[in-house]
Amino acid sequence: MIIVLRPDVTEDQINHIIERVKKLGLKPHISKGVQRTIIGVIGPEDLLRITPLEVFPGVEKVMPVLAPYKLVSREFKSEDSVIDLGKGIKIGAKKIVVMAGPCAIESYPMLYGIAQKVKEAGAVVLRGGAFKPRTSPYSFQGLGEEGLKYLKDIAEKLNLITVTEVMDPRDVELVAQYADILQIGARNMQNFNLLKEVGATRKPILLKRGMSSTIKEWLMSAEYILSEGNFNVILCERGIRTFEDFTRNTLDISSIPIVEQLSHLPVIVDPSHAAGKWGLVAPLSKAALAAGADGLIVEVHSNPEEALSDGNQSLLPERFEELMQQLRELSKALGREL
Ligand code: PEP
Ligand code: MN
Repeated sequence: MIIVLRPDVTEDQINHIIERVKKLGLKPHISKGVQRTIIGVIGPEDLLRITPLEVFPGVEKVMPVLAPYKLVSREFKSEDSVIDLGKGIKIGAKKIVVMAGPCAIESYPMLYGIAQKVKEAGAVVLRGGAFKPRTSPYSFQGLGEEGLKYLKDIAEKLNLITVTEVMDPRDVELVAQYADILQIGARNMQNFNLLKEVGATRKPILLKRGMSSTIKEWLMSAEYILSEGNFNVILCERGIRTFEDFTRNTLDISSIPIVEQLSHLPVIVDPSHAAGKWGLVAPLSKAALAAGADGLIVEVHSNPEEALSDGNQSLLPERFEELMQQLRELSKALGREL
């Protein structure tokens, strides 16, 4: 349910409404927009029916939210959410945010070399996995905390923001100590305990779409995070499983405008895991921006042949630089910036 407040509502009136909502045992979420302040109320709506909030001073109207993903929906918040990533970087506004780096952190010098290159090319967020969700238990599983230390140290030296995956609810505190953005991988999109745990932090969360998840399920997973009070969620389309096996996954381009219609949250695209082949990363990146994505997360490796994971889909730094130049031109044509 959404309580839309009058433009001239006072702070005292807002506090009075919030107190009443809390007394009913419901959770209020205030959202102060440019034009209006609204209070989203989540919980059994029967309780609210007993208390006619329409008669409270400062209230203009009370509306039900029809979408099952309440806080995530455009009904709840009509303006785009712009998320502050730190160091002056924001996502969800005019400027496109590009995140890049290796699939996995393999060593300090390896990460440093790639970080320098992607930064020079214009990436503002450094990616690198320290806890890797591998299909085989015999594949490289990541460097764990040691990798997180390299990531933080290198990003500080180069003034970059970091994103890395957290796979286990027990590791959230640890990963949050080192990383700026916490990534929830496709395989964990419906790990509800993990979603609640990252929801309890106030870090930006990069929520990847599960490889067999519908858009509705993806938004419901985001709702788990927002319902814990963390509104800093970035959605990431990374391709879904279809009958087509030429590519690793099928990039669902239409999910971008759909999510933009349904939700106020920013959405980015991971062309690397969608394609599974480096030669497709550039065209998919361009398609993603043209479809309205707020950013990209791209795998880059200086020696893809020897990469410990996802070498096939990793761009060489020089190819990434070339792509960034093309994306800069494209962004202008789209009325955005990079
Ligand atoms: C990754 O980003 O390296 C990764 C494992 O991605 P996904 O969860 O989308 O497969
Ligand atoms: Mn990868």
